[in-house]
Formats: sequence, structure tokens, C-alpha cells
Amino acid sequence: MRAAVFPAPGLENLKIEDVPVPRPGPGEVLIRVAYVGVNPLDYNVVAGAVKASPMPHIPGSEFAGVVEEVGPGVSSPQRGDAVVVYNRLYCGHCRYCLSGETQMCEITGGAIIGVSTQGAMAEYAVAPAKNVEPTRADLRDAATLPIGALTAFNMARRASIRPGERVAVVGATGNVGTYLIQFAKLLGGEVYAVTRRKERAGSVLRALGADHVVAPEEAREAAPFDVVLDPTGAGSWELSFSLLGRGGRYVTAGALTGSEVRLDLRRLYGMQISVIGATGGTRGDFRLVVRLLEASKIKAAIHGVYPLADVKRALEELRSADRVGKILVAP
Ligand SMILES: [Zn+2]
Repeated sequence: MRAAVFPAPGLENLKIEDVPVPRPGPGEVLIRVAYVGVNPLDYNVVAGAVKASPMPHIPGSEFAGVVEEVGPGVSSPQRGDAVVVYNRLYCGHCRYCLSGETQMCEITGGAIIGVSTQGAMAEYAVAPAKNVEPTRADLRDAATLPIGALTAFNMARRASIRPGERVAVVGATGNVGTYLIQFAKLLGGEVYAVTRRKERAGSVLRALGADHVVAPEEAREAAPFDVVLDPTGAGSWELSFSLLGRGGRYVTAGALTGSEVRLDLRRLYGMQISVIGATGGTRGDFRLVVRLLEASKIKAAIHGVYPLADVKRALEELRSADRVGKILVAP
């Protein structure tokens, strides 16, 4: 099969090669990949900022496709089923898995398909059957769910948004941000999408449900907010923390723009602010997210689709100033 492979870290090392089709082991399925989402995670994996194994490595942690073959002991899904893949490996029996928080699994350490295993930027990929969710949604849209939508869902859940609350989404045009707008809206929030690219992205963000699309300086004027959802990292910490009002909740899920911040404890306790972390999402919430897409309660914002041969261009396009939503590769 054709696959995007790198033998050593570095974007320059990423090549399209012919490699053997993987075999599904016990409890696993082989999936013919239809679409794979391109995320900052992939960029970090290829660049070496996130350590991948085994090497040489195939990246790709967010994908949808059709079951081609099932391994020993698998009764569901079946060959021919259209599926989308929950990408956190989980044991199913540690205390975190038993409480439903599968992304916190202490046995796997929250390992991710495509980072700790071979990924899906290839014609075929293997995944545990229990990670695979059958779907009747368009596979192109479904491929945006495992990282983008699920991370946003978990952030919104942990923010405990109540109807009528004022919610700021920082990094609104990104893979996660475009879904944060939708979940905050579904939960009844008054949603401010914060972006430096108001003119270019405004109509798309409004169509996703944003009540207001504002530049960072306008967000400061519109403060205070009950909730600030910011998946981007330290680069916007000062802005995001300053937007919070009394009892405000800040939720983070990524450190793309840096991971170290300064925190004024007096403001934190004096205003009873909560700083909340979120990583990925649960296996159970993943099923809910798939059902929401099937019911058209949420929609995928797709920036572009590239053939596998153009995977490098797809990775570089992540940094494009024009991007709103997801870039996909179609093997
Ligand atoms: Zn576990």
C-alpha cells in the first residue's frame, strides 16, 4: 500500500512509499482509510517534538474509512462497515476506564493511535475493534471528529456551560475552535468567536453559530466572560485570563503556542476563577459526537482536501493564515 512514512524526525524525511498492508491482530480491525485529518499533532510527530514509535513511522491520528478485514475474536464491527476511529488506546479495566474517562487510562498512559502505533496517512490502518464507531455520516465530515470535535466536546463539558452564560472561544478558526463554537451554542451560551481574521473568517464562524465575531481587542471590551475556551496555549493566556469575570472558568486543551504561563493567584482566588485542563475525550463522548454529526446538530468546517501525494503541502497548509477549519488527506 501507499503510505506517508518517515524514517527519522523531520518534515524533509516524510516520503510516500510502498509498504506492506498491516495485518489485524486479535481484537483488531483493518480499515481502508477514506479520509485522515491533519492536525498540529501530526506536524509535531513528524518534526520530532512528539516522540513517535515504531520507526520508520506512519503519522495520522484522526481518520474514517471502511472495515476491510477483522482480526480473530472480533464480532463487531464487520467487514464493509463505514467507521470512524476513537484514537486513544485504553485498557477498559483500570479505575479511570471504569469511570468512563478512557483518555486518562493509566495502563496505556493515554497513548494515541498514530503516535504510539502506526497511523492512518496510508491506504490502510489497523485499530482496536473497541475503538471503532460505525457511522452513517459522510466519512469526510466524520474524519474531523476524533481530535477536533471530541476535544471541543470535552472542553465544553468540563467548562459546565449553563444556558445564557457568556462564552469566549479563543482560536475560533482552528480544528477545535470551529467545534467549540458549536458546542458552546448547543449548551445555550452566548458565543463570542475571538479571531485576528475577523473579515476573512467572520461569515463561516457565524454560520457555525457564533453570536459575535470579534478581534482580541474587541473581546477585551466585551469582557467579562463566564467561560473562556482556549485550545491554543500560552500565546493567548494573558488575553484569555483577562477576559474572565467572577466565578469564571478557563479551559485549556493544547500548548501549540507555548506551555508556560504566569498566573496571578490574587486574581484566581479573589474572583473564584477555575483553571481547567482537558485532554481528548472519553470513548462514550465520542459516540455522542458521532451521533450529533449524523443528526446534523453539528457540522464539519473543512478547509481543504489533499491527495496522499501532497501530504507535506497539507501539513504546511496548517500554518496558513487563510485556514478556517480542517485540512484532510484522502488516501
Ligand atoms: Zn485503562
